[in-house]
Amino acid sequence: MPIRTAGFRIAKILGIPIYLDASWLLIFGLITYTLAMNFRQLHPQWTPTQHWTLGILTSLLFFASVLFHELAHSVAALYYKIPVHSITLFIFGGIARIGREPSKPLQEFNIAIAGPLASFFLGLMFLVITSFSSSQQMAGALSGYLGWTNLLLGGFNLVPGFPLDGGRIFRAIIWGITKDFSRATLIAGSSGKVVAYAMMGIGGYQAFYKNDWYSGLWLGVIGLYLLNAAQQSIAQLTIRDALAGLHASDVMSHEVPTIDGHVTLEEYGAEVLRTGRRCHLVLSGDRLVGMMNVHTLNAVPRQEWANNSVQAAMIPRDKIQWTSPDEPLLKLLERLLTADINQMPVVSGAGDGAPQIVGMVTRDSILRVMQTHSELASQLSSK
Ligand SMILES: [Zn+2]
Repeated sequence: MPIRTAGFRIAKILGIPIYLDASWLLIFGLITYTLAMNFRQLHPQWTPTQHWTLGILTSLLFFASVLFHELAHSVAALYYKIPVHSITLFIFGGIARIGREPSKPLQEFNIAIAGPLASFFLGLMFLVITSFSSSQQMAGALSGYLGWTNLLLGGFNLVPGFPLDGGRIFRAIIWGITKDFSRATLIAGSSGKVVAYAMMGIGGYQAFYKNDWYSGLWLGVIGLYLLNAAQQSIAQLTIRDALAGLHASDVMSHEVPTIDGHVTLEEYGAEVLRTGRRCHLVLSGDRLVGMMNVHTLNAVPRQEWANNSVQAAMIPRDKIQWTSPDEPLLKLLERLLTADINQMPVVSGAGDGAPQIVGMVTRDSILRVMQTHSELASQLSSK
């Protein structure tokens, strides 16, 4: 999944922060409105207040159902000791962000199927309530809607296109049979693209031939979203493959430029321009006190460069993020991206008491490996 803005935090359940994306407000408003209008048509004897109250309540319970579905995935993940970072509700439903890919097909299968099972459970529960509440019309309308919607939600998620739950189940099965995670992801990713194109096709049909623009557009947009997600999961896999088996020591530069903490930012700027080196460790005497780079320099207004020293603007030593020569490159890249930084000093020998800075890893050097990998891969496949 792309790194999305987290939105606003509304709760914490089982230690997992729950977020509402801004786009959620739109869909909440839309569903509430549709429900209220629907209730008005079906139950004209109710007052407008009743229509709207029930609309809002049903809409809220619908999103509670989506949350319940994501929590079911999360509980299954936590059972396998896979951390769950957050759950976000947004325009197309919910996303539980889990810390890593499951390490076994059975784990992925169980985590994926937990969501639809939870939705089916809720759906049946609401339908049972409906069957007992025929005399109470409002409760009946609410539980009837939620019953069918949850069944639909569970069913839709079982469609075997990655990244839908059904696609993950599909991947787990192929992974279990072939014992090849990469191949399983490629196949499930392709099936995801097929499902996405099919949804856009049906959406187009609904819009142009049935004149149902509302459903047509909606299907088209969800299809686009799924297509994007399927492509991303394939791209992520390509990155995984390119960086597999590589470590920080493979791409680091052994040169570690240093700068004295007392020079002014003006002088530092000149040094950067002269040498083209974009990152320096800052020394005071022979003591390491921090790190300085172009990004940090640019954060200071140009007219203040002459009056400020590097030491005043640098990233202080205790805020620097380090890596070690044997850190896997994939993990390192994730850390660089999450922290939004461009380079990390490489420290070795932290174990035997005398840590030493042996090099520098930059985001660019990792991206170069990925680019070279893809160039060579297309060379090999075109033959
Ligand atoms: Zn799900």
